[in-house]
Amino acid sequence: MSNQSQSNFSRRNLIKYGGGVVGTSLIATVLGSNLGRPDEVVAKNDMTPDEILTKLMEGNQRFVKQKREKPNQTTVRLEEVAAGQAPFAAVLSCADSRVPVEIVFDRGVGDIFVVRDAGNIAADESIGSLEFGTLVLGAKVLMVIGHQDCGAVISTMKQLEVPGKIGLILDNIKPAIANYLGKADDKAAVKKATEANVLYQIEQLKKSPVIADLIANNKLKIVGGYSNLKTGEISLIG
Ligand SMILES: [Zn+2]
Repeated sequence: MSNQSQSNFSRRNLIKYGGGVVGTSLIATVLGSNLGRPDEVVAKNDMTPDEILTKLMEGNQRFVKQKREKPNQTTVRLEEVAAGQAPFAAVLSCADSRVPVEIVFDRGVGDIFVVRDAGNIAADESIGSLEFGTLVLGAKVLMVIGHQDCGAVISTMKQLEVPGKIGLILDNIKPAIANYLGKADDKAAVKKATEANVLYQIEQLKKSPVIADLIANNKLKIVGGYSNLKTGEISLIG
């Protein structure tokens, strides 16, 4: 979806439901009720973006130190969120099996709205999902997470010929890592390319008028992360 059509979509809803000057909160309410989200569940999330980021990083440290508390994984929690979800954070992570988001942040059911694809790329559909997770469901931190030895990044650096639709993934990474093409044998360059890709995908997300509006109104904080596969530690980057 282009930025232009997103704007048109928003305007249509404003006209249809608002009839006047209203902000994204109305759109969120309309979309949310259409999709079965009770507003009272969302109201429980009264943490600030900074508090949420701290909560995520504390959970990651519990995972790294093997002191997991496994919060929100009980049948009581299942019943609670069956009535409606209000995840406090959203994540765009690589689909790599070694970065299981809820586990590495030591969180449970209904906590994190997770979008994953190879190379943690902000393709249009992923942006749409994250607009939903933030605007409608109320996630106040959006973290894009790359990781050590990412096959998608390395394949792009090697400019490999790949079958099927895998090339679409590499096409979305290539603009981010122009300075690192052909340097896949250099581990430091691979790490730098991975971080550059995270920052590039964040810039793509910020082009979304929905996400930009939430950031401008201090309703959303967007950050980059890098996962060390051997320790499980997520470091903030950018
Ligand atoms: Zn990866």
